[in-house]
Amino acid sequence: MAHHRIAIQGVAGSFHDIAARRYFGSTGQDIDILECETFDQLCEAVANNTATAGMMAIENTIAGSILPNYALLQAYNLSVIGETYVRIQHNLLALPGQTIDDIHTVQAHPMALLQCRDFFAKYRHIHLEEAFDTAGIAKKIRYENLRGVAAIAGYLAAELYQLDTLAESLESNKQNFTRFLAISRTANPISREYNKASIGFRVAHTSGSLADALSIFKRNHINLTKIQSIPIIGVPYEYMIHVDMVWDDISDFQQALREFKPQALELKVFGVYKEGEKNIDLTTKHRISVREPDDPDAPHEVLEPSKKHLDGRMHIQSWRQWIPPARAIPQDYIMISGPCSAETEEQVLETARRIAATGVASVYRAGIWKPRTRAGGFEGHGTKALPWLQRAKAETGLLMAVEVATAQHVEDCLKHGIDILWIGARTTGNPFSVQDIADAARGTDVGMMVKNPISPDLELWIGGIERVYRAGINKLIGIHRGFSTHEKSKFRNHPTWAIPMQFRERLPDIPLLNDPSHITGKREFLAEVAQKALDLGMNGFIIESHIDPDNAWTDAAQQVTPEALQELLATLVWQPAYGTNTHQDTSKLDILRSAIDRLDAEFVELLAARMHIVREIGAYKRYHNMDILQPARWEEIMQKRLAQGGKLGLGEEFIKAIFADIHRESLALQESS
Ligand code: PEP
Ligand code: MN
Repeated sequence: MAHHRIAIQGVAGSFHDIAARRYFGSTGQDIDILECETFDQLCEAVANNTATAGMMAIENTIAGSILPNYALLQAYNLSVIGETYVRIQHNLLALPGQTIDDIHTVQAHPMALLQCRDFFAKYRHIHLEEAFDTAGIAKKIRYENLRGVAAIAGYLAAELYQLDTLAESLESNKQNFTRFLAISRTANPISREYNKASIGFRVAHTSGSLADALSIFKRNHINLTKIQSIPIIGVPYEYMIHVDMVWDDISDFQQALREFKPQALELKVFGVYKEGEKNIDLTTKHRISVREPDDPDAPHEVLEPSKKHLDGRMHIQSWRQWIPPARAIPQDYIMISGPCSAETEEQVLETARRIAATGVASVYRAGIWKPRTRAGGFEGHGTKALPWLQRAKAETGLLMAVEVATAQHVEDCLKHGIDILWIGARTTGNPFSVQDIADAARGTDVGMMVKNPISPDLELWIGGIERVYRAGINKLIGIHRGFSTHEKSKFRNHPTWAIPMQFRERLPDIPLLNDPSHITGKREFLAEVAQKALDLGMNGFIIESHIDPDNAWTDAAQQVTPEALQELLATLVWQPAYGTNTHQDTSKLDILRSAIDRLDAEFVELLAARMHIVREIGAYKRYHNMDILQPARWEEIMQKRLAQGGKLGLGEEFIKAIFADIHRESLALQESS
């Protein structure tokens, strides 16, 4: 089943959320909600593909129309694909176990307070405070465990945030409905199932022209359900006329439009869609699944603050809007390549030319400031090399990416028109440096990539993303470059795949690239690691390339020529990348399931390999007359895996159970062989 992310204004549990679940949920689709602070961000999220569709309030039976929202539809070139009406029923919500006498403060949107004034007249002890967002207060009460404070919000907020409803339907006027528009990048096709349209137009300033234009609809049996004039910003006393209309036969609408077009100076059809149900049962709820309520006697859970910051609330610009596709690979992936270090002007230019010629990347990387683990190696040319990159950009059109480690680096890069900055693994580990870099980039529209820190620490990596995001940067990418661990490995940095997978689970909106160069440290392992990254649905690569890899001044063993890279990329199986929706037929669930299948297959192969070695050990023990059961060794195995599992977020009981089974099977094999 297709999975849909619906952008709403406000937080989960708001009336927008009710509208979204009612409208999109009723079609049997599996949806999740993207919370947006403003209507503008809502439209942007739909326009840039961060959300599949949006749900946006357009008018309320008491407060009237939300005129600027029409302008947003036009500005973002979005279409109306449906509508739904929601009754605004204001309930009084608070943490469980309290009565209305325990409540000293109610925080809510001024409009909600106004509509519930009569109710609160009876409760003089309650202090009314204006706030931005009604359901947002319900959320805050739960997250911050606020006793004595109540919110005014709908039933969904009570369910989601597990609050008690102290009083229902506080509003004086029960005929309080909001009309919401379902909006999308793509318009509905003309079809008999649709009986309503929203259009906007402008007619000449001459007498009778508006009346004449509207009479066309009358002649064609179209019923105008709403007409509204909207000032055109910057052109005083000129208006756009917005009209909603319904019909019995869509060919009447088509005929009316044909006649109408020549009369209008400007005509915009916002969409044709099915008229929403207005006679909704005043108390109808729809089914949603929420967590089981907490044990009422248990202390209230205060939700983990780190989750509160980012999860589910990021407004990331879709990478497709700022990174062009690379020619040599399928277009659902980001591809970055270039030398570890900028060595000479000629090397920078020649590598760029060959990357452009082979089409292996659309973004060029080169280190200018090289943070080396040990002193005494080549540490980069510094600002002197930035003009080389400017020239490479002018000549090839590739976007330029440079690693930065200080605020000064950021400023130097911005002065030289560098498009993307990245925070290297050694820097991500230092929140002070990351903050300085983020602050230096504030207010610019530079792209930022955050490499995982050297240590296998997911929170540090997410913290890096968060600092940059909070500085207002919304062109963001994560890079998985492996970790320095005690595990012995043929690789320079251990991939520890579980960490990038957790990163993606926590920050599903951030594209995640793999850096097989710095993971492997050796060119012969690049393809193996790159394939694994694709199998796990990663969104592309940053791979080092050099015109003369063996003589590279840094990281020689892992670099390849652009041509060798082109060949390598051609050998990979490009599994669907996570978060792509160009594969209309491949839902997110399918992508995740095929990743699981590949991992399970590998898991069974590993088990078979393990049992093979177990048999060899069995033969050794027999030959040397050793006991098959070696308790100290067994204890050591268990301790190592428990420690590893703990770091990777696996439960102790789970690891114990699995290894107990493996051990039992191993002993049985050795007994019988
Ligand atoms: C690099 O990209 O050249 C680099 C130094 O990488 P990392 O920060 O991953 O070590
Ligand atoms: Mn390098």
